[in-house]
Amino acid sequence: MQQTRSTVTTDIVIFGGGIAGLWLLNRLQQQGLDVILLESAGLGGGQSLASQGIIHGGLKYALNGVLSPASSAIAGMPERWRRCLQGEGDVDLRGCQVLAPHYFMWSGGGYRSRLKSFLGSKALRGRIDALTPAQYPAFFRNQPLEGALYQLTDFVLDTPSLLGHLVAPHRARIFQVPAQAVTAAHSESGALQHLVLTSALGELLTLQAQRYILAAGEGNADLITLLGGAERDSLPAMQTRPLHMVYLQVTAPDPAFVHCIGDSFGMTPRLTITSHPDGAGGWVWYLGGEIAESGMQRSPQEQQAEAARQLAATFPWVDFSGARWGSFFINRAEPRLSNLQRPDTAYLEASGPLLVTWPTKLTLTPDLGDSVCAELARQGISPLAHGHPAGAALAPHFPYPGIATPRWEAAP
Ligand SMILES: Cc1cc2nc3c(=O)[nH]c(=O)nc-3n(C[C@H](O)[C@H](O)[C@H](O)COP(=O)(O)OP(=O)(O)OC[C@H]3O[C@@H](n4cnc5c(N)ncnc54)[C@H](O)[C@@H]3O)c2cc1C
Repeated sequence: MQQTRSTVTTDIVIFGGGIAGLWLLNRLQQQGLDVILLESAGLGGGQSLASQGIIHGGLKYALNGVLSPASSAIAGMPERWRRCLQGEGDVDLRGCQVLAPHYFMWSGGGYRSRLKSFLGSKALRGRIDALTPAQYPAFFRNQPLEGALYQLTDFVLDTPSLLGHLVAPHRARIFQVPAQAVTAAHSESGALQHLVLTSALGELLTLQAQRYILAAGEGNADLITLLGGAERDSLPAMQTRPLHMVYLQVTAPDPAFVHCIGDSFGMTPRLTITSHPDGAGGWVWYLGGEIAESGMQRSPQEQQAEAARQLAATFPWVDFSGARWGSFFINRAEPRLSNLQRPDTAYLEASGPLLVTWPTKLTLTPDLGDSVCAELARQGISPLAHGHPAGAALAPHFPYPGIATPRWEAAP
């Protein structure tokens, strides 16, 4: 049964509690704005907790020896995140778990893979070091490696820990509101007036904000349809890039964090490996790179068999016989570019009261934070006096969503 409607006003409503929404919540609250975050399912349960957590420094985009716009935009990001980890950046991430302080690139022995690695290292001169065997990380130590092993400026964050740090100060402003529980009211001219939220008990709340930020990853497409109104034609379209990710629980004592550069003509590493705590003192290896892109054509069984074949050939010193395997399909969500390219930078499009965002990479989220803050300042958005924070008014009606569980924590 539907009950009386009450009206809640706030400065900013953010849709989506992945890295983008949570980062923006932190940045905008720091500016004194009253911010509410609406998450339709579990925090991070889209791409963010499925990501490998690599804070990239650009190598991946420079394997042809050319410093592309992507590698230039991203080059300063590891340093920027390190400042946050030291409590000196935009957002205080002191205490956030770093899984690997460095990421590595192994050329392997093939001619083309050595050439690509060499060219990448030249393009990023000064930010990449070829290691001597005495400098190898534990996983590679005492192994007779063909080709070169490089240490990159990239490093790896534990994504559940990262999200936990972003959530902690603002829990009281984060609400679980299923997508179907939100409707939008537009004026006759199509201007967005307010949202109407329906609670699980059928209570109706009108929620009105100065600006609405769409940070819902793949969910942005539906939100643009729902909220766009008169702005709809000037808002961006979305593209998705599907991936078939593999994970395996291994008994190897040392974690692996490495791009294995392949011998193909392609510029994506053959395997991009990260390792994540399995909760029982061991490691789950998580595989991205070319195998995840081409794996869209394979069934889960075929994909896991292909991964097993590649890993056994690449790391003959690791015993994979007792490994437990799993895989899943997931989309990367990005703005659709006219040339069908991958976007190089974090993306923001503002129209009317809407700001549509995609960080395009976890790494670029601080960049997104800058763009959104600059856009709101340009539009003259400043805190309005609301009496009491909107979070307190929503709390009796909508629950806190909780942080989702990484996919590899499901039993392989
Ligand atoms: C397999 C994989 C590996 C990756 N690895 C890396 C990496 O190592 N390094 C890197 O820099 N980048 C990586 N990325 C990219 C990175 O993960 C994404 O760019 C980033 O996580 C996107 O964050 P987001 O907050 O925009 O979206 P998401 O994390 O997808 O979050 C969107 C949130 O919005 C919610 N939502 C959806 N619809 C609605 C709605 N209607 N109302 C309210 N909430 C809604 C969803 O439930 C979700 O919680 C990877 C991506 C994938 C898929």
